[in-house]
Amino acid sequence: MARIIALSNQKGGVGKSTTAMNLSTALGACGHKVLVIDLDPQGNTSTGFGVENIRDGANAYPFIMGVAPASEVLYATEVPNLDVIPSTMNLAGAEVELVSAIAREYRLKEALESAKDDYDFIFIDCPPSLGLLTVNALAAADEVLIPLQCEYFALEGVSQLYQTIDIVKKNLNPDLNVMGVLLTMFDKRNNLSRNVEKDVRDHLGNQVMKTVIPRNVRVSEAPSYGKPALLYDVQCAGSQAYIKLAAEVMKRGEGARV
Ligand code: ADP
Ligand code: MG
Repeated sequence: MARIIALSNQKGGVGKSTTAMNLSTALGACGHKVLVIDLDPQGNTSTGFGVENIRDGANAYPFIMGVAPASEVLYATEVPNLDVIPSTMNLAGAEVELVSAIAREYRLKEALESAKDDYDFIFIDCPPSLGLLTVNALAAADEVLIPLQCEYFALEGVSQLYQTIDIVKKNLNPDLNVMGVLLTMFDKRNNLSRNVEKDVRDHLGNQVMKTVIPRNVRVSEAPSYGKPALLYDVQCAGSQAYIKLAAEVMKRGEGARV
């Protein structure tokens, strides 16, 4: 049965989609069966995987609304063992439609029942908000991974995210765990990055993943070629960091499963 991992932070531009693409690719390349669900109507992860010609009835929107089963909304990618459920702008409508739906927080969880036995890992790439799509992701997930950009105010908003996670834990999903906070876009030539890392580790201790993702131009170029960085340039520092992160995620999982 899959470990279901939500990538969440209500701030945009912190590395959620980049992490969804590259962490999943590293795990797929290791032989794990991986599914990535793009739950952001902007669809960066879908385009980043080069998924094109997304059909109206076959994407995350009908999937979460319970209209289409997983088998009808999956798209294979260039990455071995890795499928994507892509999003389109229509998904923004789900945020509104779900408000009046029955069991509205559990729609994704229910939809995933038909898929979770087929995968080792399911990643959910959340939109930059704490609305119903993110709540659906947290209600369906076993773990949350929180990307934080190494920037001023990195920790701003994190307490609000933790509060949301607590509310979901209390009311919807008692088994939800924070896997960790992942520092992204670390610039080793910049004192600010080092200060942010120290500050975040002082505040959050071992909640912070050991692996740090460096700022790397190859990582930011890759999506324009419709590829994860690991396929675009496996040697670059960014790809290598995501490979290390995959090992750390596998290790953290071993502890949690015994
Ligand atoms: P989010 O999904 O949280 O909004 P993204 O993953 O889309 O954030 O990243 C925001 C921008 O930063 C994108 O243009 C992406 O290519 C770039 N980016 C993300 N991670 C890195 C990195 N490690 N090095 C350089 N650029 C990065
Ligand atoms: Mg994104």
